[in-house]
Amino acid sequence: MRRACLLLAGLVAAPLSVFAQTMDFNKVEILTEQLGPNVYMLTGSSGLDPSHEDGAGGRIGVLAGPDGVLMIDSQYAQLADKVLAAVRRIDSGPIRYLVNTHIHRDHTAGNAFFAKQGAVIFAREELRDSMVKLSHAPNASSNPVANPAGFPVVTYGMGDPVRIRMNNEVVQFIPIRAAHTSGDTNIKFEKANVLFIGDFYRNYGYPFIDINNGGSLKGMLEGLDATMKSADANTRIIPGHGTIIKRDDIIPYRDMIIAVTDKVGGMIAQGKSLEDVLAAKVTAPYDAKTAGGTDSSAERFVTAVYQELKSGRGR
Ligand SMILES: [Zn+2]
Repeated sequence: MRRACLLLAGLVAAPLSVFAQTMDFNKVEILTEQLGPNVYMLTGSSGLDPSHEDGAGGRIGVLAGPDGVLMIDSQYAQLADKVLAAVRRIDSGPIRYLVNTHIHRDHTAGNAFFAKQGAVIFAREELRDSMVKLSHAPNASSNPVANPAGFPVVTYGMGDPVRIRMNNEVVQFIPIRAAHTSGDTNIKFEKANVLFIGDFYRNYGYPFIDINNGGSLKGMLEGLDATMKSADANTRIIPGHGTIIKRDDIIPYRDMIIAVTDKVGGMIAQGKSLEDVLAAKVTAPYDAKTAGGTDSSAERFVTAVYQELKSGRGR
């Protein structure tokens, strides 16, 4: 039974809980790259995180300046000290705001640590609800994401973006309909023309629609459209993992999702099972262009598409 549960978890939510514990956090370095006069991204070093070979954990954004620091996401809890040290190399001012792109632990497990530094945490109401739910689960005491000290304090829904004005920048928290998870947010720095988009786009492995955390195929496609609308041809778009992209890089990605969805939909109409669909390797035409962990992430992606179509939620 336990084995079956682990297998099931492996199909839909593997990267976060099962494998993350096997990495050697001591070896991880936090690398800083400047994206604008006062906007930075922090990335864990590569080759250490079995779930994200390209860079350990989730990427962090930092806006620094005389008005204090705003952070996007908080990484694995085990890396919080190193992230703080990296922020301090940029700016010694107070860390005032932290916004979460989505609930996964490589983006939120450091929340409690940064709340203790004084950060007010912003996120979607759905994200907070999911954290509260986790805090009632049997393993809550060993799960940093379920620690109430790291819960968002200010929450928002699907309406207009939240706008924070500081350091001569306007920062928009743009709500995205259930895509990678139920509580996704894009964060845009208007003046720097930089857009952080969390994990619903990725160029390392296939898309991850985390149905268990409220993600959806429909939301993923809507989210990609919304992202293209909030960017221009020069906007630097920063995914939670992988390399920096431009708006037009999203087009072939979206087309691939639609093509795979149509193939899977056709096979469902022919009465094929999930096993049949997985055996047909419908992503094969895209494997050469998709970096990283292709087999497992293709299986996870196609399984989610199958489940979404089968349940009638469709696209
Ligand atoms: Zn994620």
